[in-house]
Amino acid sequence: MHELAITESVVATVAERLPGSRVTLVRLEIGALSGVVADSVRFCFDMVTEGTNLEGAGLEIDEPPGRCRCGECGTEFAPDWPIMACSCGSANVTVLSGQDLRIVSVQVA
Ligand SMILES: [Zn+2]
Repeated sequence: MHELAITESVVATVAERLPGSRVTLVRLEIGALSGVVADSVRFCFDMVTEGTNLEGAGLEIDEPPGRCRCGECGTEFAPDWPIMACSCGSANVTVLSGQDLRIVSVQVA
């Protein structure tokens, strides 16, 4: 399960940076084109944080929509993941944003 490994890596990163702190809230940004399912991350979070200094912490996830530009007609659009095609029918698209997964902020007690 892809999201489990991602959640583990997020939790490990936070735990490493804030050793000994009691983390109460983690905010993530998961781009709509990142391929990561936010609900699965939510599902894994409680399990992965058990026994760490993130145990019991809240999780907020922002899911900014992706942006693509069509290589044929130049239109910029928000694709409907996982179908990355322009309304003109071209699949020759460049992803401009929405592929990132990042930790936006962490609150400690
Ligand atoms: Zn197009």
